[in-house]
Amino acid sequence: MDLSIVIPLFNEDESLPELAAWIERVVNAQGYSYEVIMIDDGSTDRSWEVIEKLRQGNANIKGIKFQRNYGKSAALNEGFKASQGNVIITMDADMQDSPDEIPDLYNMIIRDGFDLVSGWKKKRYDNTFTKNIPSKLFNAAARSMSKIKLHDFNCGLKSYSRKVVKSIEVYGEMHRYVPVLAKWAGFRKIGEKVVEHRARKYGVTKFGWSRFVNGFLDLMTIFFVGKFGKRPMHFFGLWGTLSFMFGLLVFTYLSISKFFLDKTGMTQRPLFFFAILAMIIGTQLFLAGFIGELISRNSVERNNYLIEEKLGV
Ligand code: UDP
Ligand code: MG
Repeated sequence: MDLSIVIPLFNEDESLPELAAWIERVVNAQGYSYEVIMIDDGSTDRSWEVIEKLRQGNANIKGIKFQRNYGKSAALNEGFKASQGNVIITMDADMQDSPDEIPDLYNMIIRDGFDLVSGWKKKRYDNTFTKNIPSKLFNAAARSMSKIKLHDFNCGLKSYSRKVVKSIEVYGEMHRYVPVLAKWAGFRKIGEKVVEHRARKYGVTKFGWSRFVNGFLDLMTIFFVGKFGKRPMHFFGLWGTLSFMFGLLVFTYLSISKFFLDKTGMTQRPLFFFAILAMIIGTQLFLAGFIGELISRNSVERNNYLIEEKLGV
């Protein structure tokens, strides 16, 4: 199969028929063999009935229905697991992403050899203050932390080669950082394509203000887990030891000063409290690292490595 189109959706019954018809038009014009996997993320409207109806008209349309709302990441993850195409394209269900971009995104994977191509909504039709400006800040932070040169990490419209989606796991709200997950998994050829963005035609946005807090925390998690997830001691141990040594050094100085130099009482000097603080924080960081290390030793994932190829074994 050439192409899998994965569409996570939550209460989008109004746009689905139009979206499906448009995708069908574009894909048939190119002559791809394809499937459309619609993941109903616990919708409370008629979305699932619409999907069932669409499938009767076109057997390439497939559906997965969640029991409740688990979030976009969960929906993508299930869609990735189910997909059979050589190229996987994800898009939002709200018609903000245009299916006309499909052929180019497909070709960039197949012909130009990209592992992942992310859409870039260069011109956005969203609210300036709640979406556009915060999103610029996020992208700048994600760019500098991950060293991936993308303008729009969170674009719903992306294409992947098959091996990428089969090697990554999208959970929590990590759908914002799929390119980072792909990079950590070793896929370095990450491209970008300016895509047409459209105003939401039906329904409302499904992400409120919590997107800022969660987006930021997830960025920290992804950065930390990717870098130190398998060796927490290298982070905590280093800073813990440095802090402790600093405290100890100051303490030594204070003691020498008290007994042999100016004989001021130790607790009368502010430096004394800094020293204690540094030693306590140092010990705690060290312990955090040690406990982290014990946990990662017990983790079932501790020896999960992605093997690209094997010869004769
Ligand atoms: N979505 C989902 N589960 C959720 C929230 C959103 O599957 O819990 C889907 C939603 O139906 C849409 C896509 O994720 O297809 C992007 O959501 P939305 O358009 O609301 O986000 P925005 O464009 O406002 O960033
Ligand atoms: Mg949208």
